[in-house]
Amino acid sequence: MRQIKKFYVRTYGCQMNELDTEIMVGQLEHRGLTRSHDEHDADLLIFNTCSIRDLAERKVLGKLGQLGRRRQNPNAIIGVTGCMANAKKESLFQKLPHIDFILGTNNIHDLNNVLDEVLATGKQTIRTDDQFSFELDYLNAKRENKVIAHVSIIRGCDKYCTYCVVPYTRGPEVSREPESIVEECRHLVSQGYKEVILLGQNVNSYGKDKPECSCLFHDLLYKLDQIPGLERIRFMTSHPVDITRELMEAIRDLKSMCEFVHFPLQAGSNRILKKMHRIYTVEQYLEKVQTLREIVPNVSLGTDIIVGFPTETEEEFLQTYQFLKEIEYSVAFLFAYSPRKGTPAMRWSDDIPESVKEERLQRLIQLQDEIIAKQRQALLGSEVEILVEQCNFKDSALLKGRTRCWKNVLFAGDASLIGTLQRVKLHSYSHQTFLGDRVV
Ligand code: SF4
Repeated sequence: MRQIKKFYVRTYGCQMNELDTEIMVGQLEHRGLTRSHDEHDADLLIFNTCSIRDLAERKVLGKLGQLGRRRQNPNAIIGVTGCMANAKKESLFQKLPHIDFILGTNNIHDLNNVLDEVLATGKQTIRTDDQFSFELDYLNAKRENKVIAHVSIIRGCDKYCTYCVVPYTRGPEVSREPESIVEECRHLVSQGYKEVILLGQNVNSYGKDKPECSCLFHDLLYKLDQIPGLERIRFMTSHPVDITRELMEAIRDLKSMCEFVHFPLQAGSNRILKKMHRIYTVEQYLEKVQTLREIVPNVSLGTDIIVGFPTETEEEFLQTYQFLKEIEYSVAFLFAYSPRKGTPAMRWSDDIPESVKEERLQRLIQLQDEIIAKQRQALLGSEVEILVEQCNFKDSALLKGRTRCWKNVLFAGDASLIGTLQRVKLHSYSHQTFLGDRVV
């Protein structure tokens, strides 16, 4: 019978996947296994995959194919978890016959049982439920960061944007019980954590799937803000339709709420938004942004934008360009459209040539770079609050932390300041990072 002592996990994709990896690492260490960061040294290899883009999938398939051809330890058990497991199910066994198990995003609570089954029977095993239904062992998650923790509050998505695989890979929205979230956050604070990032595909839908539960997203924020020692709360990602006035007021009124909102636009044309099934118009979006900026004047905004969606004209692209210019987001994730199997958008021809998509993307990137450069310049000389996360890996005399609006900052200081809030005056920047002096 095969034996496992050391495991290796590689994570692809978003923060949800990173958190799922931390939960799986906790389960495996609880089983008595040791984590190795060298895949050749491990007898259990887990690939926690992402399906959001074609490129992400191709990378994982390439890596897994390579392992089948030249695996150093032929007895090693190989597992595929994450969104690709749900999207491709048994077909992965046909494509990659050397894989031992497939575990979907809604089944990671079952990891140790699946391992036992593989070890006992030697047979390929698969679990890919469509809906999340088991409470995970969040308290024993093995977290990498010692100051900031990701906390899952809702899984799945009910929005069904036509380009997105998430509703099909992660299933419908399932909110976690508020008591369980509060308990986890209290536990994290007792372990020294100072900031939590509330995670979900659509965090601000929180609670809507439980009509009997009177705790909506903003209600949850009020509960978490009362936890002594919890200095900061952030969340990602949100849907513009569910950004309510109550949420905006919570960001203004709660001491721990960071003034940063991810407000994904996706496109600046109403026709394209409708085709994407984003269920808002640019006018409704703009009105919400204006209201948010009135209620929280110092708020920073983030966005996601897709260019080259099927049938997007140059004029429609220019509407998106104009939006980006006017709103001046502080963070923008910009992508060229790539069709995903299983999504409604697959029924349309991917008719925008790659060269046109690339050219539109580059124009947006250049514009966003100019906006960021202007914003950075305006911040020089200002004093900001930094949560100190760690020593800088290149120079341990420097500490690294982030502002409330998610800007990286380096400043000279002693490691004893890790985990504390500090005032820092910004004097310069290099690439994405500000440099400053601690104000004492
Ligand atoms: S709201 Fe986000 S996760 Fe949900 S379908 Fe749309 S893009 Fe995907």
